[in-house]
Amino acid sequence: MKAIRAAFLDFVGDPFFVPESESVRYIPDGLLVIDQGKVKDFGTFETLQEKYAGVAIASHEGKLILPGFIDIHVHYPQAEMIAAYGEQLLAWLNKYTFPTEKKFHDKDYARQIASFFLDELLRNGTTTAVVLTTIFPSSVDALFEEAQRRNMRIVAGQMLMTRNAPDFLINDAQTAYTQTREQIQKWHGNGRSLYAITPRFAITSTDEELTLAGKLKAEFPDVYVHTHLSENPQEIEFTAKLFPNSTDYLNVYEQFGLVGDRSIFAHCIHLDESAFERLSKAGAAIAFCPTSNLFLGSGLFKLGKAKSDYGIKVGLATDVGAGTSFSMLQTMSDGYKVAQLQAESLSPFKAFYLATLGAAQAIYLEDKLGSFDIGKEADFVVLDMQATPLMALRNRGGIPQDLETLAEQIFATMILGDDRAIAATYIAGECM
Ligand SMILES: [Zn+2]
Repeated sequence: MKAIRAAFLDFVGDPFFVPESESVRYIPDGLLVIDQGKVKDFGTFETLQEKYAGVAIASHEGKLILPGFIDIHVHYPQAEMIAAYGEQLLAWLNKYTFPTEKKFHDKDYARQIASFFLDELLRNGTTTAVVLTTIFPSSVDALFEEAQRRNMRIVAGQMLMTRNAPDFLINDAQTAYTQTREQIQKWHGNGRSLYAITPRFAITSTDEELTLAGKLKAEFPDVYVHTHLSENPQEIEFTAKLFPNSTDYLNVYEQFGLVGDRSIFAHCIHLDESAFERLSKAGAAIAFCPTSNLFLGSGLFKLGKAKSDYGIKVGLATDVGAGTSFSMLQTMSDGYKVAQLQAESLSPFKAFYLATLGAAQAIYLEDKLGSFDIGKEADFVVLDMQATPLMALRNRGGIPQDLETLAEQIFATMILGDDRAIAATYIAGECM
């Protein structure tokens, strides 16, 4: 058993639906007790100090501890091609992404990048991610093996692609089905690993492949489905041409049984009311990827409509390599600006909720992750809100004692902060 003393912030409610002050649990001087990688006890230092008098206490004085960030959409093979100039989605894929993903045929190479990628997540305080790979099974194995070495809870799956890509990234639908089935049996629920059936997007899959993907989801209902939806106008137009019998883009996935709980759709920028309504009813989740949407010029996600009006599960995501940072703080910052451009405001509590408990709920892992409730897995991040000279000037006065000051300081931290603001990241109670 061990214990950590610091200021703690987590959520006990959804700030989009209850008053923010009721959604937040803030303890300026708290104690988190950890046993076998899980939260054993949590409360104020004053109330718990006697009960755990014999337990070794590590102090993060002056720092703020939050549940580990959860990034619900990110491409590990694209780490090395982040910040590629000058294109929008379809041209960007052809020019930069597809040639990069080809390299992941080589498992040693895939392992090297997977290792870099996971360490980079940890450097940025991200403890769980929903990750896209490539069409090569060895690229999936490399990621899960490296994640297990770090004991990280990762959701991932082999990319399904059978058309509209270069020959070197095209698989046969039946082969992809067999490979995916083997991967599910090998990885889903193996340690902390979880599997996602991952068609890249509608454009790169044939009807046959999506039929087989739906068959897999029916065979393994607690496995995830993870893909892209309605990111870019040309993509939407091309999808409509390829699937003339569908009523809209979302309906392509619906027709093949791929829309339900544990379905995660990245972007969802150009959806109409009907699609929002259907996503909500299905219990599906949207990955809001603001740095990517701005970088590729894809458009502005309607967070208020999706979350407040339709009650859809939404989590924040970086979408590296179209996203421009691994940092969930920078992702919140761009999320705030995307909201501002639509005359809405994303409060700091809402932003941090979307990167912690809200994301855990979006991926149906709120029984394990996302807050400091007793019994949850002890993945957390230690924030230094004075990490740079400018942040220290802006956040003068030490750890906040009230919610108003806390809101000001965490807002400045998400606008000004990045990996420099991550003092430490813990996985299952171990400092990584
Ligand atoms: Zn993506």
